Amino acid sequence: MDRKRIPTDVETAVLTKSARRCTLCFLLSRDLKEKHGQIAHLDQDPSNCAEDNLAFMCLEHHSLYDSRTSQHKNYTISEVKAARADLHRAIALGKHTAADERSDVITEWEVRYPGGLVDVSMVRRGQPASLVRFAIGEDFTFINSSPHQVSLSVILLIVYGCTQLAVDPYNMPLPEWARLLTAFGIRQKPQLLFPLNLPGRSAVEGHILFPIRRDGQGRGIGGDAPEKRQCLFEFEELLTKRRCAVVASVVSAPDRDNHQCYVQTDFALPGPNQEPFSIE
Ligand SMILES: [Zn+2]
Ligand SMILES: [Zn+2]
Repeated sequence: MDRKRIPTDVETAVLTKSARRCTLCFLLSRDLKEKHGQIAHLDQDPSNCAEDNLAFMCLEHHSLYDSRTSQHKNYTISEVKAARADLHRAIALGKHTAADERSDVITEWEVRYPGGLVDVSMVRRGQPASLVRFAIGEDFTFINSSPHQVSLSVILLIVYGCTQLAVDPYNMPLPEWARLLTAFGIRQKPQLLFPLNLPGRSAVEGHILFPIRRDGQGRGIGGDAPEKRQCLFEFEELLTKRRCAVVASVVSAPDRDNHQCYVQTDFALPGPNQEPFSIE
């Protein structure tokens, strides 16, 4: 049998009506994503190039359809032709473009983080007074370059070998937030609240606050080596579940009385003896 070239007008009709969506993907799972594919001859006679004998299929489905093994006997010509008619109707109604929009919700967002993480404590003067300790991740910038809104969650992970301690972010009342930053000489920026909603094509900047236990978050089991500890921020895009982590490279405790004085700190252990900031 000669493989005759499909006349251009017939080929154009097949490609346009199907919008290069695979007839069998649509038959089996209503899949309307664009595929690399070919035009299949439904009666498997390559010289029969009548439009009614042709259907667009993805590469896998084309070879599956053409293979004569027993398990493929269940795709009959009339079944495929009926699916093709359904597919052409769906394309004519524009259902494939809606499917494309959903699939590119694989959004393009990024986080920039210079790496600063500070350990600060604050006394709330009440009856009784309470000391609270925080980790502040400094100077985050989130950029959403997609047209869709992106919602992110975050956890702070303190990692020791295979042990990971996770902390959720904290939402501090605004007046306290501004005074806390001032007290420790941290640049005034908004507190980023989570889930963080980034409208399409937008960017936002700020710090992220996490509560830390006064006596530290605890140590890893077995062979815990403080110098191997790592703090990282793990972000998750709520819709796609795509995750992205950034590592804190400078972990320090600023001195409230002298903002230039920084000491080493370890979030696994009790905080340094820096004088806490007091708030009425
Ligand atoms: Zn397919
Ligand atoms: Zn074929």
